[in-house]
Amino acid sequence: MRRAVITGERKIEVVDAAEPAPGPDEVKVRVHCCGVCGSDVLEYLYPTGFSDCLGHEFSGAVVEAGGNVRGVRVGERVAVYAYGARGFSEYAVVNGEHVVRLPDSVSFEAGALVEPVTVVLTGLRHCGFRAGDSCFVSGCGSIGLIGIQLVRAFGARKIVACEPKRHRREKAVEFGADVVIDPSRESVEEGVVRAVGDKVDFSLDCAGTGASILACARVTRVGRTVCVLGLTPERLDVSSYDLFLNNVKFQGSTPYDFRLFEASVGLIAEGKIDAMLVVTHRYPLEGIAEAFELAARADTDALKVLVWCSES
Ligand SMILES: [Zn+2]
Repeated sequence: MRRAVITGERKIEVVDAAEPAPGPDEVKVRVHCCGVCGSDVLEYLYPTGFSDCLGHEFSGAVVEAGGNVRGVRVGERVAVYAYGARGFSEYAVVNGEHVVRLPDSVSFEAGALVEPVTVVLTGLRHCGFRAGDSCFVSGCGSIGLIGIQLVRAFGARKIVACEPKRHRREKAVEFGADVVIDPSRESVEEGVVRAVGDKVDFSLDCAGTGASILACARVTRVGRTVCVLGLTPERLDVSSYDLFLNNVKFQGSTPYDFRLFEASVGLIAEGKIDAMLVVTHRYPLEGIAEAFELAARADTDALKVLVWCSES
């Protein structure tokens, strides 16, 4: 079978590999569609040697199941819940309990978005988002845009987004933001006060930069939480004054639990959110080098890039 591996800095290749066989508790999945995550791109730009674990946002069909596996059968379409999986591959073997069946109404492409939706959903649960909260979403890549859709679906009172790239600001409005701030042109704090009349109840950092996390801290109400979902290699430059004066909590949101994975499939199937709107590009597995290069470049309008690992 064919499988993608990182072979150096900014180098990813598709190579021949042995087809994996499932153990008694595992299933073998023919991978249909796998999303390129920001964390995959980081590994591509700055390889750490964990390149064996590329591709954790994927969907496919079960082609073989170990003897102890219950609850899923050969032929079923599934989304896979897996870190340390290898989704950029024709086949993957995963724990039989780590797959969620996809209803017919959820395509393989939407199935590949179940993982990123779950990342945001987990953040909202862990960090205490409540219906009626005003929200600040910093960074409008695919995670930020899914965040806007989810807080909208869960009854956010007002959503203020913040994003330096123009096409992403336009997307933020399309996804349901009430106000979008361009941090390169105006003060984020002033923009939030103008939009909400005060600080916000909840904020979601989806950029992961020091400036973004600090902006979240400054615009969030005392005692509430900044949910940190953004990942970059950048180190934070935060003084004790920033922490003392803003008095908010910072919380990450990993790991997610499996029930939320099922809940994400439900939100997509019921049309409560339309995660497919984040998909901008699609490549076949053999074109993965181009897919990664596109996802890694800052000067494109790419959001979620999907890789089709097998046809049909
Ligand atoms: Zn991811």
